[in-house]
Amino acid sequence: MIEVVDLTKVYPNGTRANAGLSFAVHEGEVVGVIGPNGAGKTTLIRQLLGLLKPTSGRIRILDCDVVSHPHMIKGRVGYVPQAPGFYPSLTVEEVISFVLSLKGLRGAALRERVMETLTLIGLEQSARLFGYQLSYGMAKLVLLGMAICQNPPVLILDEPTAMVDIERKERVWQAITAARARAVLLASHDIHEVREHCTRVYLMLGGKFIAEGPPHEIAALTRLSTVITLVAENPQRVEEMLVKSGDMFSRKGEVFEIIFPELGMALARLEQIRQVTALRYIYVEAPSLEKAVKALLWEGRAQ
Ligand code: ADP
Repeated sequence: MIEVVDLTKVYPNGTRANAGLSFAVHEGEVVGVIGPNGAGKTTLIRQLLGLLKPTSGRIRILDCDVVSHPHMIKGRVGYVPQAPGFYPSLTVEEVISFVLSLKGLRGAALRERVMETLTLIGLEQSARLFGYQLSYGMAKLVLLGMAICQNPPVLILDEPTAMVDIERKERVWQAITAARARAVLLASHDIHEVREHCTRVYLMLGGKFIAEGPPHEIAALTRLSTVITLVAENPQRVEEMLVKSGDMFSRKGEVFEIIFPELGMALARLEQIRQVTALRYIYVEAPSLEKAVKALLWEGRAQ
């Protein structure tokens, strides 16, 4: 449904933001492009939407050539930008209604689709709130509503949950799933989110894809190690457990620092520790994708 061949974008100042990218998103797929800031994700998305002309390469979406005929995909590709846009003096309901009326919907059909969309994004109770009254998370849901109200077969999302609080993140994902687009492409720098929701992932760095595969493989490749720092009521019990399970840890007085290869293991061990002693302090640090990618490059695996 999306097909990209040898896509390159060099900005006028000489920055090569995308370099020879080739990939496809097939029917039924939710594909994530993951990479640290500056990797070239937004540049890719803007080209897919026909907002930015590639320096070279081909883009086909829904059998249309986006480079030569960008207007052909209008209304058939739903897009949610990274930064949540606010429409301060319009209510949530009015914004969705406006988008649908531009598409020619009127009267009862319009009202019905507005209500359906509000339900999809979980803002039925907030229909009358004005833009200036919305949190970032709600504003992002409104943008998602604007994108999915027309039932687009393809959805393109730039960091769909950036700046969204944890509770609403789940809501955003429910809405994306409920939209039932035939293909979804999203950019993200949250590997945990991608692992949970994508069927396939491309890891991007310096404008190139350096790895591609199912999300668990990519997550393993970037090895997001997690560090737990804790202080326990009974440090002796904790030390015994850590030695027995062969975890990598250091102890300074009462303070333990334990390193796990991934977050899931860290949380499981934390639960076990809690069974044997009360904890006075816990700090969990899952390093950023930037750190993981740097480590990956350092090991020379990305070559
Ligand atoms: P990401 O979305 O992964 O953070 P971007 O596509 O925004 O990455 O940026 C990729 C590279 O292109 C960065 O080095 C960025 O500074 C550069 N870049 C982005 N937009 C422009 C522009 N309009 N002109 C020149 N360089 C740009």
